[in-house]
Amino acid sequence: MLGAPGVGKGTQAQRLMAAWGIPQISTGDILRELRKKPESEAGAIGSLAKQLMDAGKLVPDELVNQLVAERLLAADTERGYILDGYPRTLGQATWLDEHLGAVLTKLPVVAVSIEVGYDVLLRRITGRRTCPTCSRIYNVYSQPPIVDGVCDVDGTPLVQRPDDTEPVFEERMRTYHAVTAPVVEHYRGLGRFTEVNGDQAVEEVTHSVASAIRELRKQDL
Ligand code: AMP
Repeated sequence: MLGAPGVGKGTQAQRLMAAWGIPQISTGDILRELRKKPESEAGAIGSLAKQLMDAGKLVPDELVNQLVAERLLAADTERGYILDGYPRTLGQATWLDEHLGAVLTKLPVVAVSIEVGYDVLLRRITGRRTCPTCSRIYNVYSQPPIVDGVCDVDGTPLVQRPDDTEPVFEERMRTYHAVTAPVVEHYRGLGRFTEVNGDQAVEEVTHSVASAIRELRKQDL
């Protein structure tokens, strides 16, 4: 699942996870878990991740690839999985292709990019709130919780991510265009890529993403 920050990758990945019973693997979530760990466990890697994430910069490929390699060993990935926010660089994409083919002999990746205009993204990012317990995503403008500031599922107070402010958003957009655009071209070149309009109702986007994945998967079946 590709797309600029705030296009709804996480929301859509969570909806597909529920519909298809396959896990969402979000490198952003994995890194946020890592940085929460005490220094003694996460070591220098945890604080490096925190520093880069808070500045809107990408974490080095080797670290992210290693985390993904570990996560893909889990049994729940057997029937498939949704990669959310990964691969984000050409280095990650080529590593993943090789890893899936050579090490795991799993089906190759199909990539769907959710596309949304800049102004809509800015509103989504600054309105985004997340549950620190279950990772459910809300938006104060378009998808508010039933009770203001509190998760519908477990009652935990919602938080705003430190990188969801306007200046950090702008840096993340610059990074996205500079570093992630070649990933789109990589999958387009392989004929394993489709774009979906993300500026529709949430259910409509889910429907479009699911259809796009089914269509792209036909070549593997
Ligand atoms: P996200 O939750 O996907 O918006 O990611 C939040 C932040 O985590 C990004 O701005 C990066 O600093 C870091 N991050 C997440 N995924 C990756 C990735 N695939 N490669 C490098 N950094 C990542």
